[in-house]
Amino acid sequence: MKLPQPDSPLDRAAAESLIQAAVDTGTMAADVALRLASNLQHAGVLDALADGAFESKRKGKGDVVTVSRNIFLPLTNLCRNRCTYCSFAKQPDSAEAHTYSLEEVAEGVRGGVATGCTEALLCLGDKPEIAYRSHREWLKERGYGSTADLVLEACKITVAEGMIPHTNAGILSIEEMERLRPWNASMGLMMETTSTRLRGKGMVHFHAPDKDPAVRIRMHEEAGQLRIPFTSGLLLGIGENDAERVATLMTLRDLQERHGNLQEVIVQPFHPKPSTPMRAVEPIRDDEVVAWVALARLILGPEMNVQAPPNLAPGMLERLARSGLNDWGGVSPVTVDFINPEAPWPAIESLRRLTTASGQVLKDRGPVYPDWLLDRPEFFDPEMRKKLLRLATDEGYARRPTHQSDEEAA
Ligand code: SF4
Repeated sequence: MKLPQPDSPLDRAAAESLIQAAVDTGTMAADVALRLASNLQHAGVLDALADGAFESKRKGKGDVVTVSRNIFLPLTNLCRNRCTYCSFAKQPDSAEAHTYSLEEVAEGVRGGVATGCTEALLCLGDKPEIAYRSHREWLKERGYGSTADLVLEACKITVAEGMIPHTNAGILSIEEMERLRPWNASMGLMMETTSTRLRGKGMVHFHAPDKDPAVRIRMHEEAGQLRIPFTSGLLLGIGENDAERVATLMTLRDLQERHGNLQEVIVQPFHPKPSTPMRAVEPIRDDEVVAWVALARLILGPEMNVQAPPNLAPGMLERLARSGLNDWGGVSPVTVDFINPEAPWPAIESLRRLTTASGQVLKDRGPVYPDWLLDRPEFFDPEMRKKLLRLATDEGYARRPTHQSDEEAA
């Protein structure tokens, strides 16, 4: 997508007028978003953006902010790609390389059930069997034809043990997604960026064929055709520029207009990891995260669920709470964030306190948002929807064991 270049500097009054138009119409044009993004250094522009996005959020979501008490199951940390910012993926000969057995999946799920979690995030590397013979043999010895077969069995065990999967297994074919759909409440793939430039030689995605934007857009389209509630998002700070960020958000908006199955969009800052080629890169500033959460809200509109992980901008949580997000995402009382292990989750009680201090109320959700569960039955396998409803309150929020206090679960 070709975007016009930003023109003259904006002062706060001019920024407010552009932002108010976006709040009133429920969307923002690409050239306006880029102009605002290019003027964040000017006094008042960031505050105006956050204020406008907060107003838009309240229009669509009222005073509620949600959180999902989940567990993170990194089914395999082998991956055929080599993104230069990633510390999650391991080589097969690494002492840290690991693929879960079904017994380990069941054990993890039991830990989640015991602490009041309903969502199991199955997150793993992309098709490692393409790159590694040892993984092909590991799968074959256990009767699996592919990593997707393992994911399917892991989803079935997860359901049998009392939790509901949300799978993010990288690129899946439409047939694989179709097989997984009855065993998942929702599925996901971070768009990250639609920049083809970052696939160029020496760039972050040069050795990552699954990060080809066309491949990722196609999977989003196919998830839309299958009516799978889908999570996507924007990854900030991997070398993309403002125009590329805006273009990525515009692509997500376009996908949502055509398929309507994007249940949430995550705005996630990249944290440089010591063991990676990008270890010396300057991390993205917290106030930039606030700005892009706000721009995501204003571009995607008041109805979109916009999420920002609270462990990735811990210095700005009070500000983030009033910047247009309506969801803190998955926060686990059991497992670490395996993608960002250096970034601990905040206690759910402290999230509750700061959400309350922002004039909003924190509510526990399950793996899907209440309005999706209650009002959009066409997006779910009927049996899966029954399971989700059994784990939900009448309002669609997560039902928690009555004996369990927040402190116990946190
Ligand atoms: S695709 Fe994901 S898991 Fe694989 S290297 Fe890239 S960021 Fe890491």
